[in-house]
Order: sequence, then structure tokens, then C-alpha cells
Amino acid sequence: MILTHGALRPSPSSLTRLSHLTRHLNNNNPFSISVNSIPQFTPIRSASHHKSISSVENGEQVSVDQPEIIFMGTGTSEGIPRVSCLTDPFKKCTVCAKAVEPGNKNRRLNTGILIRFPKPTGVCNILIDAGKFFYQSALRWFPAYGIRTIDAVVITHSHADAIGGLDDLRDWTNNVQPHIPIYVAERDFEVMKKTHYYLVDTSVVTPGAAVSELQFDIIHEKPFIVHDLKFTPLPVWHGRNYRSLGFRFGDVCYISDVSEIPDETYPLLRDCEILIMDALRPDRSSSTHFGLPKALEEVRKIKPKRTLFTGMMHLMDHDKVNEGLLKLMETEGLDVQLSYDGLRVPINL
Ligand SMILES: [Zn+2]
Ligand SMILES: [Zn+2]
Repeated sequence: MILTHGALRPSPSSLTRLSHLTRHLNNNNPFSISVNSIPQFTPIRSASHHKSISSVENGEQVSVDQPEIIFMGTGTSEGIPRVSCLTDPFKKCTVCAKAVEPGNKNRRLNTGILIRFPKPTGVCNILIDAGKFFYQSALRWFPAYGIRTIDAVVITHSHADAIGGLDDLRDWTNNVQPHIPIYVAERDFEVMKKTHYYLVDTSVVTPGAAVSELQFDIIHEKPFIVHDLKFTPLPVWHGRNYRSLGFRFGDVCYISDVSEIPDETYPLLRDCEILIMDALRPDRSSSTHFGLPKALEEVRKIKPKRTLFTGMMHLMDHDKVNEGLLKLMETEGLDVQLSYDGLRVPINL
């Protein structure tokens, strides 16, 4: 079904586009995809090896010839360092003290990744989540890595550290590109109608005021295509009765917020090359997130070739934990490490 200005009409596709601005549905707009032009679920093309120009930064052109993931953030909602750790007169938090240093790998913003891959027409940048600290992440990594456009955002769930940065996308839609498609589950779109009501229905915005121009595409728990890249949702529990989505693209599986993987999701994780998985703290799980022991248990079960953990809180000392994880390579042949903000990982799509 398509919902436009609150009206429902039948959709020819299982993937539903919602737009509050009818001009976004204009086929003459080269940046717009109409419902009818949404590609069917065809097998994804193999990795392209031609070079594409991503953008120009300080006069330097960045070419992209290999698909990659860039970690925009790898930390918990409040960010690392925690402000309260730095102001505590009685306790010294060693991880947060290290995280203050620029470039330290314990310095972590809200979890999210950017998938960058070459296309015949140029480079495609797809974000998974844009949380509260999206502006700071983008400020840090977009110029450094020559990233200019945001070709789509795919949303895992509607917590603030996953969608809090949607407002900041105005800089792109005002100055770089006409709009950004947002792929979101219906339940999370319902949340956005409240948290970001002025982005969902821009008719409430004072004329002349510029806000992010977003197009909302409702996704279901089945595969969908974004710019020729197939995404398979990986439904997981993120606390009791709260659903979050991981995503598989190529042989990469990304699950940033999980407390339990339901049985039906495991088959979707088969033959995974790179698993990016939630691991909040070193000692135990919380009610909404895997801790390291549970995350490792899952890695043994899923058997990916390589695992990178994300979503770490301030109890996770990057170097110390990684040193311990390295030993698992010798003892069990497990390739597991913590990721860090700004990490780039080449992938095959
Ligand atoms: Zn701390
Ligand atoms: Zn969450």
C-alpha cells in the first residue's frame, strides 16, 4: 500500500514508497525513483572493478574501485567518552580518559556504517542509520574519505541513536542533492511520524524554512533493492518484544542492536563472510544488547569468516579486549575483533 498525505492506495510492489511531496514522484526528476521503476528482486551483480569518481576534496579526486564499509560509529547511545566519567571527582574511568585523546580507538559515536560501492554512473553511498551524533561522524569521516552524497539511508530501528540524525540530513538535501530516500520498517515510520513529524509531513513547516527532504520507503521483513544492491532484513530482538533489523548485503551481515536472534533469522546468516555484531560490554549481556560472551557464542554458531563487533560501551577497552580476542584465533581459529570509528573494510558485493 502507498500512503500519501494519509491516504492509502494499492501498491504494485511489496516495497512501498511514501512521499509527502508529490514532486518526488515525478519521473522526470533524475533523482527520483517511481514505484513502477523500483527494480525487481534480481540477483545482485558481481563486484564491479571499474574506477568511479566519488567526490572532490581539497581538489583531490577520490576514486573508488572496491566496495567497502566505513564505520561511522561503533559506540553506545551516550557516546564514548562519557561526559559523566570525565566529571566524576571520585572515580577514574581509564577507557574514557583514553577516549578523550583525538584518534584514540576508544572514542566512539553512535553505531552506523556507510556502504560505498562503485556504479557505472559514479559512486553510491548508502548509510545504515543516522543517529544523534551523525553530524559529528560525518564531519569527521566524509571530508577525510571524500564522501559527498548520501544516496539512501536504511534504518535498523527507531531509537534516537539510530534516527536522531535525520534532521541533519538537511545539509545534503539543501546543498548536495534534492532528496534522500529513507528505508524504514512501518513500526519505525510510525515512531518517526511523532519524533520527526515535520520531516514526514513538510506541509507543517513555515514556508521558506528549509528542512531535510526525505522520501520514506516502507520495508518489510523481506529483501529489497537500494541502488541495485540487495538488502535482506535480519529480524532480531532488541529487548523484550522490541524488534530491530539487521541487514545482509552481499555476504556481509550487519546486526548492531540485538539481545536475541530468533530461529528463523539464522538461515539468513549462512555463509557469511563478514559479520558485524553488537557487543555492548565485556562481561555480560544487558536486557537489550549482547555482551561479549553471548556475542562470541553466536559467532561460534553462525561461523562467519570474520567478525567485527560494534556498539561498545565504555567498559570495552579497545586494545585490551582486542588482545584477548586475538588469542581466539590461535585457540579456535576465530577471526574476531572490535571495530572502531573510521575503520574501512573492503567487501565483495
Ligand atoms: Zn567511562
Ligand atoms: Zn537501540
